[in-house]
Amino acid sequence: MDKVTLPPHVLIFPLPLQGPVNSMFKLAELLCLSGFHITFLVTDHIHTRLLKYSNIQSRCDIYPRFRLETISDGLPEDHPRSGSGLIELFESLKTNKILFKDLLTSGKLNSDSRRPVTCIIANGTLGYTCDVANELGIPILFVRTISACCLWVFFRLPKLIESGELPFSVNDLDTPIKSVLGMERFLRRRDLPTFCRSGNLSDPSLKLYLHESKEIPRAPGLIINSFDDLEGPILSQIRTFCPNLYTVGPLHSHLKYKLSGELSSSFTSSSSLWNEDSSCITWLDSQPPNSVLYISFGSHAVMTKEQYTELWYGLVNSGSHFLWAIRPDSLTSDSIEIPPELSKDIDERGYIVEWAPQEEVLAHNAVGGFLTHSGWNSTLESVIEGVPMICWPVFLDQHVNSRFVGEVWKLGLDMKDTCDRIIIEKTVRELMDSRKHEFRTSADQMAKLAKQCLMPGGSSYCNLERLIKDIQAM
Ligand code: UDP
Repeated sequence: MDKVTLPPHVLIFPLPLQGPVNSMFKLAELLCLSGFHITFLVTDHIHTRLLKYSNIQSRCDIYPRFRLETISDGLPEDHPRSGSGLIELFESLKTNKILFKDLLTSGKLNSDSRRPVTCIIANGTLGYTCDVANELGIPILFVRTISACCLWVFFRLPKLIESGELPFSVNDLDTPIKSVLGMERFLRRRDLPTFCRSGNLSDPSLKLYLHESKEIPRAPGLIINSFDDLEGPILSQIRTFCPNLYTVGPLHSHLKYKLSGELSSSFTSSSSLWNEDSSCITWLDSQPPNSVLYISFGSHAVMTKEQYTELWYGLVNSGSHFLWAIRPDSLTSDSIEIPPELSKDIDERGYIVEWAPQEEVLAHNAVGGFLTHSGWNSTLESVIEGVPMICWPVFLDQHVNSRFVGEVWKLGLDMKDTCDRIIIEKTVRELMDSRKHEFRTSADQMAKLAKQCLMPGGSSYCNLERLIKDIQAM
């Protein structure tokens, strides 16, 4: 094939965390299906884990135009890269600008049958990718894999500071926040990203996200893993900063739909960084419909011993059956111990794994609720399956997401800033029992809208088509 007639070559560079890797891998597959050459760039640390736990290698065999490429994140191999270590990871990633440029100019990404990179799609947190793209004359689009509602809060951080709403002291977290347009009716201090609670404008996370909100509009387009019926009013606000938005989510279902022609429950690709324990699916098969509460705090949240203890008691006292994914590194100290007097009840009613095939779990008809840390991927995975949520956010964007789940979309209950077995018991009973019809009805309605947006003519379907055309024209 003549070089000019070769298909576009897109380099996709996600943040090296489970959530962004999952959703950007689905985007990579979607673009591969449209015939593009894809280079999926991951850090060495992520690469090792993907090869060990996911089926990404076999996806490369299915798509001959798909390649994995690696880059260093600058941290030693034994760095935890989770919890409080995340900010160090973000800081360290900035130092690989030169490596990134070298990779693009080395010639190793192209060949006679593969054009040099014609478009970069990078996570918006990696702002330096835009400098490199501009220096080399390669078009770039940014992606944000958090919710539009949290992204909009990031964009409004300068206004929060200007108006004096930031910084604040944590004494009164119920004070309403007025500087985030479109959220004046319901946003409180406690719903802001957690770094806003530091009371200090030189907090490193605050500085990072202030900077990011200035970087993102530099790219001529922004891809968001969300859909218009969920976040329409907030997306309109974001368009005042980034007019060219591609809302193409929920990406994981978008891919499933494209692969099967219909939204089916066949699970095709995994980009898991942990060993998925599928024995929980066999356990779910033996449970009555809508009876199980699934619990997971995502890939990098860590919790205190007190939080674990209150959760054990609250769960057992609620009488609900539950499936709990407990990452071994998810406790701030010591090891995770089940209180001995609860072990009989837990054996009878619960099932525990270290890492679950979450999309499959949420699609299982035995699952009636999801106790989640409100990470954005988990939220979308729950939304499209119509599973109501109990939100117990841990940090960052999760506090904004949980407010939207509870107060705006009415898809569940927000339990943020509590740590009490009685509240947990009461909240589980409400979601799984006394108010279950109310939450199921609203969750079913939202799931229907989510699925419609992926059908021909739906907003995410059309936005993906537009994205593909725009990349072809680059
Ligand atoms: N996940 C999983 N198994 C688990 C827990 C989480 O496969 O036991 C996946 C989940 O499906 C989601 C991702 O890990 O795609 C977590 O991303 P999210 O944005 O929800 O949270 P984060 O890990 O970034 O805090």
